[in-house]
Amino acid sequence: MNLTPCLCSVHTHTTLCDGKGTPEEMAAAAYAAGVRYYGFSGHSFSPNPADFGYSLPPDTTEYRRKVLALRDEYAGRMEILLGIEWDSWTPGDPVGYDYWIGSVHAVRDADGGYCAVDNTPEIFRECLERVFRGDALAMTEAYYRGVAEMAARKPTILGHIDLVTKYGESHAFFDEASPRYRRAALDALHAVDPSATLLEINTGAMSRGWRSTPYPARFLLEAWRGMGGRIIITSDTHHPGTILHGYREAVTAARAAGFRDCTLLTAAGQLECPLPPE
Ligand SMILES: [Zn+2]
Ligand SMILES: [Zn+2]
Repeated sequence: MNLTPCLCSVHTHTTLCDGKGTPEEMAAAAYAAGVRYYGFSGHSFSPNPADFGYSLPPDTTEYRRKVLALRDEYAGRMEILLGIEWDSWTPGDPVGYDYWIGSVHAVRDADGGYCAVDNTPEIFRECLERVFRGDALAMTEAYYRGVAEMAARKPTILGHIDLVTKYGESHAFFDEASPRYRRAALDALHAVDPSATLLEINTGAMSRGWRSTPYPARFLLEAWRGMGGRIIITSDTHHPGTILHGYREAVTAARAAGFRDCTLLTAAGQLECPLPPE
């Protein structure tokens, strides 16, 4: 089998958290799209009431049962991995998964609660005004402190490292070229251990219409390459129609930053895969 990035899709959601496809529908769509290494990565339970309806329940028994049943069903045709997208506010550590994606979706507010950076632009703005008194760069610094803490836990994959830029094309809450912003982002990147963690090129905001390019920004990808880091391409799909959404653009972004390979997750471990020519 010739290796291509499109063989692998391991950042995926279902109706068991906030996705639009059942686990069965997502697996069928992945197989039909040519994926041969598929991973389920439901959102871990978050105690934030604002996250209810977006995450798996605290008891993941049903999630595990469904994923493992699909693993049996597709045996010999498509490998199915049991993963989880572990939110920074979920208590404890992920145990018993084939891999985990460590993700920050929110910043802490002054009252000990937290506000999402990726829910809606209105929620982003409300948090910016209420918690950070309009200082968006301070908000990005708080976000990246959380990312650095997550990176230190050495996830298999660090999720959408610059998620805080989600609304940059439509709302421009802050200047992504500002040295202060870039310093905060690079400080978080330098907390990632390239020998333990993959950085994802994540196209999720493209399929949802927020961005024309994947996460992360080029300066972060170039710095990661300088650190000797490895990348994995993911779609963060929430729908059977977007299992491989934006992979071509992700390859373009990877090549522009100087990468020649990406990594695939398989049941037998990580495989290096040459990036296809453009
Ligand atoms: Zn996420
Ligand atoms: Zn996700």
